[in-house]
Amino acid sequence: MSLGRMEGKVAVITGGASGIGKACALRFAQEGADVLIADLVAERCEAAAEEVRRTTNGRALFAETDVSSEDDIAAMAQRAMDEFGHIDCVVAAAGVSSASYVSGSSSSGDGGFNGELLNLPLESCNRVLDINLTGVMLTDRIVARHMVAQGTGGSIVNIASSAARVPLPGAADYSVSKAGVAMLTHVFAMEVAQHNIRVNAIGPGFIATPMTQGLQDDDEGRQMMLGMTPMGRLGTAEEMANTALYLACDESSYTTGQTIYPNGGLYAG
Ligand code: NAP
Repeated sequence: MSLGRMEGKVAVITGGASGIGKACALRFAQEGADVLIADLVAERCEAAAEEVRRTTNGRALFAETDVSSEDDIAAMAQRAMDEFGHIDCVVAAAGVSSASYVSGSSSSGDGGFNGELLNLPLESCNRVLDINLTGVMLTDRIVARHMVAQGTGGSIVNIASSAARVPLPGAADYSVSKAGVAMLTHVFAMEVAQHNIRVNAIGPGFIATPMTQGLQDDDEGRQMMLGMTPMGRLGTAEEMANTALYLACDESSYTTGQTIYPNGGLYAG
């Protein structure tokens, strides 16, 4: 259902070619937003932008972007400014579950939970932090600089994880990166509140996207995810997009510095 919650707004979405990011692009465009999809592989960005154009009335652009590169993010944000004239919202969804993970492939059948810290190579650990934490920090501040300059405020939605608060053995780098995103969200919210920029985060539980495909395909992995989730099912990317929509639009106009955990009750016990 569309109520025009994002009418007149421009949203930049990293990781927008797949999973939660793509669901946000589609949902925001249904609500009237123009979107710029930023992701690693141009062809997949283009396909996602085309899907947005085909299924909604929104304008959709894309920019091939590696969020671990400050130059890439700056160029991506500039493209949104040049083409749309302003940026009102960013969803920082680009992420990896481990340095060896390739989205859409189940090659890392454990979903990335096999990197015990005792044996984790430093380069691999740094790669996860560069994308999941530094990438979000760079995205947030580069986009926020445009928001400050345009003087109209804005909304930043970071995608953290329930792993920010639940230790996942075998995924120290991932868990730490997501705990960092949650804290970054809180600190940055305090710093930019004076500019009417709100900064919030989502900490999804286990969601059915390419990132968890390896776990979904593995009996033990699936049981692990369902066993930790009182609602007894995985979440959907669309459910995450609905939560992101609330934080992005004016319905949450007095909410900043919060992390919402849509996780099927994973924290309930
Ligand atoms: P996904 O389908 O794999 O989407 C992640 C997207 O980010 C992919 O398109 C991926 O590209 C892209 N990406 C990876 N590295 C990048 C980089 N350096 N620069 C730009 N884009 C990059 O997974 P998802 O589940 O939607 O994940 C979205 C976010 O939600 C992630 O931050 C993830 O940590 C978080 N999250 C997911 C779950 C879950 O259960 N699925 C739970 C909690 C949090 P490639 O496909 O080319 O790698």
